[in-house]
Amino acid sequence: MSWFLGFLLLVALVAWWRRESQHRRRETAHARRAQDLLREHEVLRNQRTLAEANLEIILSSMQEGVLVLDKRRTVRLANPAAQKLFNLPEEYTGRAVLELLREPAVDGMVIAAVAKSEACEAELNLPARRPPLVLAVRVAPMRDASGEPAALAMFRDIGHTKRLEEVRREFVANVSHELRTPLAIFQGYVEQLMDVPDMPRKEQAEAFDVLDRHTRRLTALVEDLLVLARMESREGELLPEEIALPDFFSGIARDFALRAKKKGVTLSVDVPADIAPLHADPLRMEQVFTNLTDNALKFTPVGGTVTLGASLTGKEFLLWVSDTGQGILSSHLPHIFERFYRVDKGRSRDVGGTGLGLSIVKHIARAHGGDVEAESTFGKGTTIRLRLPNL
Ligand code: ATP
Ligand code: MG
Repeated sequence: MSWFLGFLLLVALVAWWRRESQHRRRETAHARRAQDLLREHEVLRNQRTLAEANLEIILSSMQEGVLVLDKRRTVRLANPAAQKLFNLPEEYTGRAVLELLREPAVDGMVIAAVAKSEACEAELNLPARRPPLVLAVRVAPMRDASGEPAALAMFRDIGHTKRLEEVRREFVANVSHELRTPLAIFQGYVEQLMDVPDMPRKEQAEAFDVLDRHTRRLTALVEDLLVLARMESREGELLPEEIALPDFFSGIARDFALRAKKKGVTLSVDVPADIAPLHADPLRMEQVFTNLTDNALKFTPVGGTVTLGASLTGKEFLLWVSDTGQGILSSHLPHIFERFYRVDKGRSRDVGGTGLGLSIVKHIARAHGGDVEAESTFGKGTTIRLRLPNL
């Protein structure tokens, strides 16, 4: 009997041992599988952190402002450019885009993008900003991680392009304006040459000299136009030379002698014969004093006087055109250097002005490191004075 009991015990032991070892094997397999899962998870997490880091690098190096918005139009993410552009608070996540940006137009674009699943683009003007901003905005629909509709908004500063366009427009306007004065002088002298066939040799030579100088001025203008066509319209490059002021001013006076005589206005030059030469671009200076003399003659009635003058105080040259004409009311005086500004629009149109002359004068004075100022007594006369550094 005892051997039977021993046998049963042995069987039970073997069964138990087999179960136990099976169990243990299963457990090891489990443990291994868990380890594998853990490792897989870690790899995934690393990949994800890498992707996130890459995304962050991309977003933070973008010049464009980027906002990720959900369908309730609250901001989920803003890249540094967007944070800076809209001066976002640190706690911007989860706040409404309208509240953060205060731009109903952008809010409307997000509504449209989410509702219609269509990208929309617009220009956003922020004139109250210092400096004023113009942004190109693009809002595109997308889905977030859980498949919910969302939107991506991009903001690009296009102010620079706009300013370039403006410079170009201004330049074209200036050039066409500048074409008019020499053409009028041309016409005057050509007519005179035709009307007086037996003109003395000396006078003829003078007329041809005027025509020659203005041909060169026109050529210079056309060259400027070519520069513009090459999109290098930033600032007409200066070609400074030593200018002998007495000769220079007599030349200008000679250009206008005929017109002054016809109008009954005395034109005189008041420049010390021994004044030091001026270091400046002669063609630009000619543009300046042609404009100023043109104005002085235009606004001075019969019997008046127009004087071109210059002096040197050591550190700066003063160059002026003064007249005994109608003068400018003090309320208008601060504005006359603005583009297209004319005191009497109706009257000036009869005289043919567009109000660009003085803005060109100011532009050229500043390009030479100087400035221009106006002094006037209404009914008595006007002086426009250039201050240029003595280089
Ligand atoms: P444009 O020079 O373009 O032909 P414009 O002479 O009217 O036109 P500006 O030279 O820029 O334009 O002058 C602006 C305005 O300033 C003139 O319209 C005029 O009202 C006033 N002004 C300029 N110079 C004088 C002056 N010497 N006497 C009186 N008013 C002047
Ligand atoms: Mg003018």
